[in-house]
Amino acid sequence: ETFPGDDSGNTRPRQTLGVLYSKALPTPVKSPSLLAWSESLAQELGVQKPVDQQEVDILGGNKVTASMYPYAACYAGHQFGNWAGQLGDGRAITLGEWESPHGQTYELQLKGAGQTAYSRRADGRAVLRSSVREYLMSEAMHYLGVPTTRALSLVATGDQVMRDMFYNGNPAFEPGAIVLRVAPSFLRFGSFEMPAARKEVENLRKLVDWTISRYYSHIQGEEKVLPWFKEVVARTARLVVEWMRVGFVHGVMNTDNMSVLGLTIDYGPFSFLDNYDPNFTPNTTDLPGRRYAFGKQASIAYWNLGCLASAIAPLLPGTEELVATLETYSDLFYTEYYAMLGRKLGLDQVREEDTELLTQLEKMLATVQPDMTMFYQYLIELPAAQQEEPAIVAHFKDAFYQELSGKERELLVDFINAYGRRRSANAISREESQELMRKANPRFILRNYLLHQAIHELEQGQDTLFLKLQEAIQDPYSHRYDEFFAKRPDWATQQAGCSM
Ligand code: AMP
Ligand code: MG
Ligand code: MG
Repeated sequence: ETFPGDDSGNTRPRQTLGVLYSKALPTPVKSPSLLAWSESLAQELGVQKPVDQQEVDILGGNKVTASMYPYAACYAGHQFGNWAGQLGDGRAITLGEWESPHGQTYELQLKGAGQTAYSRRADGRAVLRSSVREYLMSEAMHYLGVPTTRALSLVATGDQVMRDMFYNGNPAFEPGAIVLRVAPSFLRFGSFEMPAARKEVENLRKLVDWTISRYYSHIQGEEKVLPWFKEVVARTARLVVEWMRVGFVHGVMNTDNMSVLGLTIDYGPFSFLDNYDPNFTPNTTDLPGRRYAFGKQASIAYWNLGCLASAIAPLLPGTEELVATLETYSDLFYTEYYAMLGRKLGLDQVREEDTELLTQLEKMLATVQPDMTMFYQYLIELPAAQQEEPAIVAHFKDAFYQELSGKERELLVDFINAYGRRRSANAISREESQELMRKANPRFILRNYLLHQAIHELEQGQDTLFLKLQEAIQDPYSHRYDEFFAKRPDWATQQAGCSM
């Protein structure tokens, strides 16, 4: 099947009616050099690490081979709850698809490779800062077991990129970089919203049929659209549950940043939580509304699924079943969310009567705001015997960001006591329970201040911390990288994640 596309190669920013993509050759950069390479992904793909400049040139967009067909995808989106119209790949260029030795196909995409028809008023480039963040974080999420797009390489371009620094309004130059990112597909909710909004129903149908046959081929039968949407709903619910498990805040859950495969996609101002604050948003443009705060992600995902439902509605005979399918989200989410919390707590199963304990946990965490990662690590080692208040507070003391008030101590102690009672009713052994907890609770997370430090060092030509973090992200559930097992230091507040 062929898709309607603009094959002219014209990258003048414009509205591209009637097409799903526009050809766009990468714009060459000054001197591409390889900064990082993901060996495990390379092995999965069956590709070799570049051995000469010609191969690095491909990763920097300076060379396009005969088998490639570089294009930018046309998509739309709702940004911060408002219809934004056509957006598209403004700085991402897909080089083509790659088939791995295992018969899996992957879309290979350069991010920061120059202007496309969708660049609007921007330059099509990415700075080192944002590229390091996407490269490390997408790989970190992979090793955490969270569905995500991945990154094969990070290339410095040798060019300087101009950015308006939001804190003083003066233009500043920063080193440019390009990430080669990899996913079965980068299709987003917004990919379907675009033809729907333009009433290009045939294009919409083609795209949906292709998405199903290509990525949801297990869906069979006459009517596939609804079962497909049902699965997108389920995958999206599961994705957010996984974000909640590890304390990830995406920061820009616009519909153009929602993968139709249920992957974490488009890493921007994201951050892990340090202290457990459900209202935390790493996105400075998300203040004061906090639409994309940690604790709102589940309901925003549902809102976004509503946009996707509206987009595909023209392909269905009526809306009743579509709405009913959308409405399965809440039950799906909560069932999986509570099951996930149960694993974090090492419960043998989560029963109806456990929801009280889980609600108590959430309330305690949101009030006391301990370091999320450290709290759960200390919970794994909680002594079996019941303890008095001072012992309980002392057990968790390194996870606190403040001296606990009387009320906070009470919430903590009440939860720990209730938890202790529930845990002793477990039908599994203490060892089995701890094993569950070790698998559900990461010990190393790529904290925002660490990323920040690593980037600062890289900009000075120092890659020691970067390399260390690149190692640590690969083994997040072990004690191997306990040099990083510490809460966020005082000098680094839980702050904006920085994107661009
Ligand atoms: P984001 O918020 O990163 O998902 O981006 C929203 C839209 O802006 C997408 O269409 C991007 O491709 C586009 N965009 C962001 N940064 C740039 C840039 N430097 N040059 C061109 N387009 C960009
Ligand atoms: Mg595409
Ligand atoms: Mg985006």
